[in-house]
Amino acid sequence: MHRVLRRVDGPPGPRMRVDGRDVLMLAGANYLDLAGDPRVLEGAHRALEAHGAAAGGARLISGNVGVHEELEQRLAELALQPAALLFSTGYMANLGVVTALCGPDDHVVSDALNHASIIDACRLSGARTHVFQHNDPEDFERVARALPARGRRLLITDGVYSMDGDVARLRELVPIARRHDFWIVVDDAHGIGALGEQGRGVVELEDVGVDVLIGNLGKALGSFGAFVTCSHLVREWLINRARSFIFTCALAPSAAGAALAALDVLKAEPERRTRLAARAAQLRSGLTSAGLDTGLCQTQIVPLLLGASDPTMRICERALERGIYAQGIRYPSVPEGTARLRLTPTSAHSEADIDECVEVLVELVREQSRAPGAERAVNWGLA
Ligand code: PMP
Repeated sequence: MHRVLRRVDGPPGPRMRVDGRDVLMLAGANYLDLAGDPRVLEGAHRALEAHGAAAGGARLISGNVGVHEELEQRLAELALQPAALLFSTGYMANLGVVTALCGPDDHVVSDALNHASIIDACRLSGARTHVFQHNDPEDFERVARALPARGRRLLITDGVYSMDGDVARLRELVPIARRHDFWIVVDDAHGIGALGEQGRGVVELEDVGVDVLIGNLGKALGSFGAFVTCSHLVREWLINRARSFIFTCALAPSAAGAALAALDVLKAEPERRTRLAARAAQLRSGLTSAGLDTGLCQTQIVPLLLGASDPTMRICERALERGIYAQGIRYPSVPEGTARLRLTPTSAHSEADIDECVEVLVELVREQSRAPGAERAVNWGLA
C-alpha cells in the first residue's frame, strides 16, 4: 500500500500539469475556480502588504491581525451564526471543537463515514464514541436512546461526505438530536461556498440550524485554513480550551485576505455554483448511463466505485496517461473493497471536458474489466 506524491504545477484551473503531463484536473477541491482568480490573488496581496508574510505568532500571542477578525465577521454572516473562529486547517478545527466540548464523561455520536479528522478528534477527546450507520437517522436514534443519562452528548457529522459526495440527512437527524439533548456539530468542508443558493452549504439545502458549523477555506473558497461558526460563548470557550487553536501559529494573513476576497466573488457570482452543479450532474449521468456506479453521490464529489484496490489504482494511472487526473482512493481512506476513482469537477470545466473524462474512463474500465481475473476483483457493471 505504498503511496507516492504527484507533482502538480499551476496555475490552478480545469487543466493543470501533473508529473509533467497536461491533464484535466478532476482531483482537486478548487470547486468554484477561485484559487487562481485575480480578485482572490489581489485580496492575498493586499493582506500581505498590510501585515507581512506571517502573522508572527499564535492568535493569543501577538498573532491576532485585523484581517483575521474581519474574515471571522464575514464568515459568521455567511453562516447566519453569531460568531466565527479561524483555525489553521480543517483537521485542527475538528480536533479543537471535539476536544474542547467533550471529555471522558461525555458521549460523541459519529457517522460511520465521517472524515478521518473527526475520528481522530473523537479519540483524542477521550469521550465515549458511538458510531451510527452511515447517514441513517433511524440508527442514530437507536444509538441516542441507548445512551446513559449522564454526560454531554454531541452529534458530529460531515455535511457532504468527503469520499462519497452524499449529503447528511440533517432534516431528519437534527430533530432527533434535539429531542435527545445533543449538541449538533456539522463539518461542511465541501459544502460551504459550493452548495445552496447563498453558498451556506448543506445546512441551507436541508434548511436546519446547528450549534456548530465548521467550514473550510481551502476548497470552494480557494484559499487555505478553516473556521468554526457558533455562539459567542462557544467561540470564547474554544479560544480558551481548543488546544489546536491555542498552541499554533495564526493563519497567514495572505490566506485570510484571499478568503475575504473569495467571499465577495461567492456573493457576486452565484452562477459559479449553478455551473458546478450542472457539471457534476453531467458527470454522474454520463458515468451511470454507461452502467458505472457512482454510489449515493448528490454533489460535486463523484465517486466512480470500482471495488478492488489494484485495478482501481491501475485505472487511475492509465487515466493520467490519457490526460485525466482522477485520484484513486483505497483502504484505509475508504472501507476495504470500496476503492474508487474520486472525481471532483469544478465550475470551470466545460461540457466538453466532462464528456472527454467520461469517454476515457468508460473505455479504461471496459479495458480493465477484460483483464484476466477482473470479474472477480471488481463489480464492473459494464462487464
Ligand atoms: N473535514 C472534511 C470533511 C474534509 O474532507 C477535510 C479535508 N479533505 C478536512 C476536514 C480537513 O481539512 P484541511 O485539509 O483543511 O485540514
